Order: sequence, then structure tokens, then C-alpha cells
Amino acid sequence: MDILGTLYNEVIGFLGISKALELLQAGDYSIFSTYDGVVALIYPIIPLLLILEFILGLVYKKPDTKVYKVNFLIYVFNRFIGRFIAIAMVTLIIGWLQPYALFQTKMTWYWFIYGYIVWEFGHFLYHYWGHKVRLFWCLHSTHHAPEQMNLSVTHAHFFLEAPYADAIRTTVCILLGVEPVMLFAIMFIDGTYGAFIHVGENMMKDGRMGFLNRLILTPSHHRVHHAKNPLYMDTNFCNLLNIWDKVFGTFQNEERDIKIEYGITREMDSGNFWDVYFGEFVALFKDVARAPGIKNKLLYIVMPPGWSHTGEHQTAKLVRGEFLKQHSVKVNKPVSP
Ligand SMILES: [Zn+2]
Ligand SMILES: [Zn+2]
Repeated sequence: MDILGTLYNEVIGFLGISKALELLQAGDYSIFSTYDGVVALIYPIIPLLLILEFILGLVYKKPDTKVYKVNFLIYVFNRFIGRFIAIAMVTLIIGWLQPYALFQTKMTWYWFIYGYIVWEFGHFLYHYWGHKVRLFWCLHSTHHAPEQMNLSVTHAHFFLEAPYADAIRTTVCILLGVEPVMLFAIMFIDGTYGAFIHVGENMMKDGRMGFLNRLILTPSHHRVHHAKNPLYMDTNFCNLLNIWDKVFGTFQNEERDIKIEYGITREMDSGNFWDVYFGEFVALFKDVARAPGIKNKLLYIVMPPGWSHTGEHQTAKLVRGEFLKQHSVKVNKPVSP
């Protein structure tokens, strides 16, 4: 009975409906017009979409089973370890750094926009370093291993990535004056939208979302981010507002004639949990062991993936730069969404 009870709680927890059930049982429906009530209603949307998307995959006979299987294993594994690390990290950082905040925002709509832009900057930093520093790429690569896109990819993360990401994002926000309550609201929106942009082609064939593709970061942009095509590598690091990609020159639209190929460039088995989860650590370890001298060994850890002590670099920057040089006319033409 205990096992069944645990299983029931896990399913309810995954669906994110425990809060809504609690509020419904209390019988006071007016609570749904409060912040807590709205959160309780929005939270289950992504898990329910994930299940719908999975069913659609079965209907279309394109079920991406390998991706769902490995991401399910990752979800279960992460539930056992590091469940509360990220939350503890956020609370600690707020406590430590709030006295050093440059100023404090107020709970108004314009400060909220400011807070969101600051949050996106923190997100950009974490995500950019996740791609440009080999050690951090070991944490982030789990998220890029799937060779198809669907909502389960949202759960594909190395367990230490969330605390690392939240440490950077929270530090930036708190030092730049974002009030903690506002920060939590932004985290919720960002988490929900950040999950939604992984919606797969089975559910949303064209991820551009019409005119929104010109204004915000859409599933189409995030599909580009997950692609290993030379043109698409290491672009679109933002989550909802893609201003920082535009500022730092990492913005890339999905081109009609360049079909997205998901995954990472390393030879790997994306259906193998261990390879998806630890494969990049093994590859880094081998490179460090092989490298001559302590300086080269250290450089492998901090330089971008693809850096080589022999000078034969294969970094995303070089690969993309080479592609742009050869195809400059083609990709510079205006893109119609
Ligand atoms: Zn990434
Ligand atoms: Zn992603």
C-alpha cells in the first residue's frame, strides 16, 4: 500500500495538481482569483500538454519513444538526488546578497518589466557559459542530447545544473535590486514558458507563432538553439525576451531551407541514460588525461567545447563562422515568418 501511496503522490506531484486539488477540496473557489490560485491553475498546464503531446505522437505514429524513455529516467533520477538543492541555493543567495543590492524595486508593472529584463540577463549569462565553458557544458549537455523535440526535454537536465543556473540568475537579480517576491513571480513565468518552448512538432508543427516570432523568443527559436546544424549552433540563449541575444549577436531565426537537426555533435547514444547524463564528463576526463602539461589540462576544463591543445579547434564559434563565410548571401536575406 505504501508503494502505491508514494506512486500516487509522485504522479500528482508530476502533474502539479496537488495545490489545485487542495484548493478545490477546501471549497473556496474565490481563491482562484488570487496569485496562489492562478499559479495552482497554470502549473498543471505543461505536464498535461506533455501527456497530450505523447498521445499525439502515438496517433501520428511518430512517438519519439527513445527521448521520452531517457527523459523519464532522468526525471526519476533527479527526483531522488538534489531535489531541494536549487531551492536552498536561491534562499541562501537572497539572504547573503540582499544587503548589497544597489537599490530595491517596487511591485509595479514597470519595475516588473525591469525585473524580467534583468532576469533574462542572468539567464543569458548562465546559459552562455553553459555552452562556452567545457565544465559547465558537462552539466548542460544532458539537455541537448535528445535528437527529437518534445515537452519531455524540459526535464532533461543534469541534477547540478539547476543550482548552478539559479545561483547566477538569483545573484544578478538580487544585486540589481529585484525584490524577492517579484523574483519568485518571474521564476514561475519563466519556468512555465521555458517548458512550453520545448513543444514538439507533433503538437505544433510551425513553432514561429506568427507575428510573435518577431517580438519574443518562440518554440521555433528554441528549436534552433537545440540544433547542431553549423548555422544554428550556440545561438538563441534567452528564454522569453530575446533582447540579450540581439544585443550580443547570438540571435538566429529558423531558416525555411535549413531543416533542424537536433542533438549534439559528439558521437553518442541518445537512448542510453548513462551516455546522456555522464558522457560529456567522460569525454572531458579523457581529454584532460591525454593533454600534455598542467596548463593544457586546465585549459580543457575552462575553454569552450571543441577547443584542442593541438590547435585544431572545432568550437561552435569557428564552425558557425566558417558556415556564415561560405553562405553569407543565403542567410542574410530577409526571413518571412
Ligand atoms: Zn543550451
Ligand atoms: Zn531547451
